[in-house]
Amino acid sequence: MSIDGLQQHDVHEPWLIRGATLPDGTRTDIRLAAGRIAELGTGLSPSGARVLDADGLIALPGLVDLHAHLREPGYEHSETVLSGSRAAARGGFTSVFAMANTLPAQDTAGVVEQVLALGESAGYVDVQPIGAVTVGLAGKQLAELGAMASSRARVRVFSDDGFCVSDPLLMRRALEYVKAFDGVIAQHSQEPRLTEKAQMNEGALSGELGLIGWPAVAEESIIARDVLLAEHVGSRLHVCHVSTAGSVDVIRWAKARGINVTAEVTPHHLLLTEDLVRGYDARFKVNPPLRSREDVEALRVGLADGTIDIVATDHAPHPAESKDCEWDAAANGMVGLESALSVVHAAVVATGLLDWADIERVLSRTPARIGGLAGQGNPIAVGSPAELALYDPAATRVFGRADLAGTSSNSPYLSMTLPGDVRATFHRGYATMLDGAVRSSLEIAGHARGVVTHG
Ligand SMILES: [Zn+2]
Repeated sequence: MSIDGLQQHDVHEPWLIRGATLPDGTRTDIRLAAGRIAELGTGLSPSGARVLDADGLIALPGLVDLHAHLREPGYEHSETVLSGSRAAARGGFTSVFAMANTLPAQDTAGVVEQVLALGESAGYVDVQPIGAVTVGLAGKQLAELGAMASSRARVRVFSDDGFCVSDPLLMRRALEYVKAFDGVIAQHSQEPRLTEKAQMNEGALSGELGLIGWPAVAEESIIARDVLLAEHVGSRLHVCHVSTAGSVDVIRWAKARGINVTAEVTPHHLLLTEDLVRGYDARFKVNPPLRSREDVEALRVGLADGTIDIVATDHAPHPAESKDCEWDAAANGMVGLESALSVVHAAVVATGLLDWADIERVLSRTPARIGGLAGQGNPIAVGSPAELALYDPAATRVFGRADLAGTSSNSPYLSMTLPGDVRATFHRGYATMLDGAVRSSLEIAGHARGVVTHG
């Protein structure tokens, strides 16, 4: 994903970002030109560039989400690649990995190339399709992994997310197959028989509410099996949305043993607990479910000590009719792109566990590395692609519908007070979002047509 072609075009707005604070605490001006970071230093002169006053703002490399559901093709009433890209830009993201549970599923070269092209024409972020592990995510036979890897979409991450690849032989074969092109299997770890009809975390509260429980062991047993399979075949495993203290223990053990495993946690599992289920508000229904206070504490510690490598949103848009109903009938999932940085700020920065350099690592550098995206996750340095998020850590806002930029509004944070706000996002040197306002699709699409988006 080279952006070397950028220099050939003159469609960029030159920008001078004045007085931003880098993740390590250094204050600097940042000049963007021709899609790259052209100059760093203090007292830079505008020389014709648009000036953005970044006093008090933290400059982060553009955020990279390894796990989002953009719903297109097939579920455009929930989200489209365009609307999901706008939600991403609102949240400071410059790249989004699009999960494979579309209709048709992203299980062939043709479908992943279609999603890639939709992302290119939207132009807000790099949309990198994830390939399905099995045909139709049905868990019966391997999809065309090699064809997706060698397609124009250059797929490296494969996942049946939404479903677990529960058949151990299929999982073994998938892990073996992707070694040829340094791919990774991103597993949704959920033992299906142990979680049939599950409605919330299994524990005292599920007993009290009379809801069928989703036991921690259903996640932990699959992770334990998969890390041993990855070790056995010498392949790379990524664990999606880790949600329990026991899972953190299993992954910590696997890493100490030298197994090639990475793991993600969602913002909501770092902040919210199962107690929210008491109100039967389906905005809090998600899979894996919200867990106990002890699980949340263990996830925070696991992220801080590096057992959990990254934060990924699991952005899962649903229309109102799928959420404004009885708890049992409601769909699982929450939108998360627009709120991610503020929620992570509240959960692990405000609590002193992580600093902004850690945030750069877990929300930009490492997800880009796991997913094999060379043009993303680079440090803010002269010559790096101009992928940036400017974040105001001192802001406080009551999160509302106006903060959402996608099609669906199933956010668990509506009417909650959250710290911080993303003030601007730059993708390929172009401001995709300024002062909370996502740039118009027409402007962005015109910009995207003027650049070579995939080398
Ligand atoms: Zn999942």
